[in-house]
Amino acid sequence: MSRLNEIVVISGKGGTGKTTLTASIIPYLGNCVIADCDVDAPDLDILFEKKLISHKEFSGSNKAYINNETCIKCNKCIENCKFNAISDNYIINEMRCEGCTVCEYICPVDAISMYKAKTGELYISETVYGEIVHAKLNPGEETSGRLISEVRKKSKEIAKNNSINNIIIDGAPGVACNVISSITGVTKVIIVTEPTMSGIHDLKRVYELTSKFRLEVEVVINKYDLSIEKSTEIEKYCMENKIKLELKIAFNENIVKAITKKQIPSIYLKNWFMELGFDKWCDSLVNK
Ligand code: SF4
Ligand code: SF4
Repeated sequence: MSRLNEIVVISGKGGTGKTTLTASIIPYLGNCVIADCDVDAPDLDILFEKKLISHKEFSGSNKAYINNETCIKCNKCIENCKFNAISDNYIINEMRCEGCTVCEYICPVDAISMYKAKTGELYISETVYGEIVHAKLNPGEETSGRLISEVRKKSKEIAKNNSINNIIIDGAPGVACNVISSITGVTKVIIVTEPTMSGIHDLKRVYELTSKFRLEVEVVINKYDLSIEKSTEIEKYCMENKIKLELKIAFNENIVKAITKKQIPSIYLKNWFMELGFDKWCDSLVNK
């Protein structure tokens, strides 16, 4: 088996077309594993007809629990919890508890114990293009990095067990640690940007992040014709930093129409995408 080819699509912020581009690449990869690492707002799977294969709860963080029968109401835990997670009637607020274990350590009668809390869900589904590993983090939870690592681990297992060479990842948006979890160790990073002030600003920030990991990077400008001036600025930035600018996608309102109809844009608008050289570019991404 050849080396596993992991391609991740990211953007400096949400709403630049990251998921649309990821979905459009998938049909051109042949048999692949799909990993949706945008666990805070997963919507890649919505574009595919799919059949659920498995589902499990994900426990990403520790939370404290007070046994009220043992508690002598000394208030030490309340006074020492710097996250204000314990109420005056000795009940832990799960949303606030950071699982630091200070209260467990400080309690004089061992009335506090820690437990693994359910912080999300992990799913594996079957699509016509291959299996998709997708997940959903519960609102307010901060363990997205761990859930992303779990999604990536599962997708690699599926690839290995089925001798599949290509994994396509819809990465987390932004520049926080969840992006690092999405890009660590991948073969190639595709950054999607748009010709706006904020698009350029976010491109620079996310590129700086990828540079720290010495990853191979390619840039795609989405809706490039909405501002030729800003697109030229992006091209200049790519040239100065020796980043490959692989594709410029024009604005096409039928892409929105395709998504509304739950269709993959590159299939719905096959000829239009082919004219952009999309199929050839996707071919260059594949590990055969
Ligand atoms: S584990 Fe830490 S954050 Fe949670 S209740 Fe105890 S002291 Fe507060
Ligand atoms: S430190 Fe222990 S005994 Fe004291 S109030 Fe908290 S749970 Fe109760």
